[in-house]
Amino acid sequence: MAKPELVPIPPQPLDRFRALLGDAYEEIERVAVRAREAFAGRAIWHVNSTARGGGVAELLQSMLPYVRSAGVDTRWAVLRESAEFFRLTKRIHNRLHGNDGDGGPLGEEERALYESTLRRSGEELARLCQRGDVIYLHDPQTAGLVPIAKRAGLKVVWRCHVGVDRPEETARSAWDFLRPYVAQADALVFSRRQYLWEGLDESKLWLMPPVIDPFSPKNRELGPETVEAILKEVGLALPAETKVVIQVSRWDRLKDPLGALALLDGHLPDPAVHLVLAGPEASGVADDPEGQRVLAEASAAWQGMAPEHRGRAHLFALPMDDLEENAAMVNALQRRADVILQKSLAEGFGLTVAEAMWKRRPVVASGVGGIKDQVADGETGILVSDPRDLAGFGAAIEAILGDPAR
Ligand code: UDP
Repeated sequence: MAKPELVPIPPQPLDRFRALLGDAYEEIERVAVRAREAFAGRAIWHVNSTARGGGVAELLQSMLPYVRSAGVDTRWAVLRESAEFFRLTKRIHNRLHGNDGDGGPLGEEERALYESTLRRSGEELARLCQRGDVIYLHDPQTAGLVPIAKRAGLKVVWRCHVGVDRPEETARSAWDFLRPYVAQADALVFSRRQYLWEGLDESKLWLMPPVIDPFSPKNRELGPETVEAILKEVGLALPAETKVVIQVSRWDRLKDPLGALALLDGHLPDPAVHLVLAGPEASGVADDPEGQRVLAEASAAWQGMAPEHRGRAHLFALPMDDLEENAAMVNALQRRADVILQKSLAEGFGLTVAEAMWKRRPVVASGVGGIKDQVADGETGILVSDPRDLAGFGAAIEAILGDPAR
């Protein structure tokens, strides 16, 4: 609908990792030298579909500044397409998670919309890039750019941040839709071995889990007074003795906010236990057209709760106009949590889980997708194998709240 937006990437000093990693930091320096040589005279263009909200934006926001500071010319372009296009790509996203989403089709009409939309943005990107540059495309929204970028003489990487443990017909239908494009890429990156698709050239495949940045505003250390001051701004004022269970997520049905609220009704009977659901203000994430509706559903479910449960549930749509402020709010909420919940029905790889663990918060999460690689069940958190098992979530949360030493 509009030309891709270029997001500024202010460099961040790589050597801040020295204090954190000790001798292992030397490896980073070595890689930086190799990267500088390998990419001399070329740029790496990352392309995705939102600059804010969600894991991919988080990853690019925090990692690209280090690539810059390593001396590699890195750029970031964000697609700005129509609501219709993002409805379609959200359908593909849901299907890649094995979920029917809005139930709409993926046929020839959808392919025509997908291709004509991306043709315009692809031509614009091709104008910006130089032959020999690397274009690094993220997720289904960008897959259709692969052939256009190849024709423009670019090296093309396509990275898929979404996947499902046991693909069924639904996920396969999304693969079939995207495969003609992604098969043309020079390299393909998936988060986990289980997520690799059938029918792709094995020699092009790479596995790379996502990462978080310990120095970002979302993860940096905050003292208790700062946490308290930020929570006041968010609007969460609870006595210190109140036990708080917190889930931070986009408003997405696959994050199951309604299931989380339902925990208060019979599965977390202790009146001193409160539940917080926090996510971006619904208009804040351009490529996620369902956000507004899911937030409305969660608010309606909250309204409909019995008063004694409703008083223990808190929904926050966090402002997104200032990303640093949003990150500080997420940081403070995660640090205030006695338990961090991630009740996803499907999850490629939960950055929120890694963020919680970095802050030494106990995690209770669905044993689905990438979360199974992140949390060692019973050791670094508790996994509930059936994500709809409310009694199981209630018991796991109570087990942690009842045994702080654990
Ligand atoms: N997030 C945020 N503000 C919000 C809600 C979420 O910054 O209001 C961030 C969250 O902290 C995490 C990312 O969005 O860094 C979500 O990544 P995850 O991998 O958990 O899920 P995704 O949104 O990619 O499905």
